[in-house]
Amino acid sequence: MTDGPRAGGATLGLVLLGLVAIAVAGFVGLVGVLFDDRGGETATAEDAIAAFGASSDGYRVWARNDDGTPVRWDPCRPLDLVIHDDLAPSGWRTDLEVALDELREASGMTLRVTADTDESPSLQRDAYQPDRYGERWAPVLVAWARPGDGELPLLATDRGLAIPVAVGPAGDRTYVTGQVVFNADREDLDLGFEDRATSWGATLLHEFGHLLGLAHVQDEGELMATFPGQGPVRFGPGDLAGLSAIGEAAGCRSGPPPRPVEVPVPLSELDLHRKQR
Ligand SMILES: [Zn+2]
Repeated sequence: MTDGPRAGGATLGLVLLGLVAIAVAGFVGLVGVLFDDRGGETATAEDAIAAFGASSDGYRVWARNDDGTPVRWDPCRPLDLVIHDDLAPSGWRTDLEVALDELREASGMTLRVTADTDESPSLQRDAYQPDRYGERWAPVLVAWARPGDGELPLLATDRGLAIPVAVGPAGDRTYVTGQVVFNADREDLDLGFEDRATSWGATLLHEFGHLLGLAHVQDEGELMATFPGQGPVRFGPGDLAGLSAIGEAAGCRSGPPPRPVEVPVPLSELDLHRKQR
C-alpha cells in the first residue's frame, strides 16, 4: 500500500469492506475486507479476521474497534444516498422506500435519498469527491450495474454487493461512505417482498444490512444469513439486534473530517475464511 492521507497531522487508516450476494441458493456471499497500514498505525488483516468470526446475539459485524464495539456509522448524522438506476427495473424505488423505512425503524438511523447521480459504481470509487458532491464524504452510491462494470467483484449469479468504507486510525474506525450495487442482469428476480429466494426486496434489505455493518450469519432465520433459503422477507431477531447495536442506540460517533483517502482493493470472503484456518 502506498502512503496514506493525513489529516491535521493525524494518520488516517482505512478499511474497505465489500460484499457480494448470490441468489441461486440464497445469499451466498463474498466479502472483501482489507485494512490499510498508515505510517505505523498498523491495522492488519488479522484484525478483520478476528472480528469477522465474532458473533453475539445472532448477528455478526464486519469489524470491531479496539474498545470492542462494532465499526459503524455515526447514527446522529443522516446517511445520504445518491441513486444511479438507469438499468433498474421500473418501479424498484417503491421497494427502496419500503426497505429504507424498515432499516430506519430497526436502526434509528436516518437513511435518505438525496439526489440522482450519473456517477457509475466502481471498485476505485473515491471516498471524497468535492467537485461532485461538495466538501464532505461522498454520499453512498446506490446503483444498478452489470457484471464487469467498474471492475466490481459482481458475478453473473450475484444479486448485488455492498461496499462500506471506514476511515480513521486503526482500532477507531468509522464508516463514512460506500456503495450498494444491484445486478441489472438478474431479470429472474421479482420486485416486492414476496419471498427471500426470489425478491429484490429481500436483496435490498440484505445488502443495506451489509452497508450498515452487518456480516453474514449461518442461521437461516435471519435475513443476513449466508443461505437464507426461502421464506418471508423480514428481519430476524439477530438482524434486529445487530441493527440496533450499530444504530442510534449505540450513540453518536464522530469520524475523521472529509479528505482524500486511498481505498484499497477488497479481499474476498473466501480469502478471509482461508486465512482463518
Ligand atoms: Zn450477503
